[in-house]
Amino acid sequence: MKEAHEEEIENMLQNFAPAESPEKNNDCPICMEEYDSKENIKCTSKGCGHQMCFSCFEEILGNKNPSARKCPFCNKKVQPNQILKLY
Ligand SMILES: [Zn+2]
Ligand SMILES: [Zn+2]
Repeated sequence: MKEAHEEEIENMLQNFAPAESPEKNNDCPICMEEYDSKENIKCTSKGCGHQMCFSCFEEILGNKNPSARKCPFCNKKVQPNQILKLY
């Protein structure tokens, strides 16, 4: 029954799929909070199209060092007027 055993291992490996391959796109990838319509509004930066919640964008924009105000995914500059609320 070698084949059955291999299948079992394969199933196990699938269960250990990396957590960073999100099947649902409903959590902020920065703070892992689920998006909602009040505090964790899903936002996107028009500059690069990456998404995170509004409070994470706010945190980036609140950085005292202007050169640190950039998208954590692609390092493009994040500007307040480029943030688009998705809902
Ligand atoms: Zn967030
Ligand atoms: Zn980006």
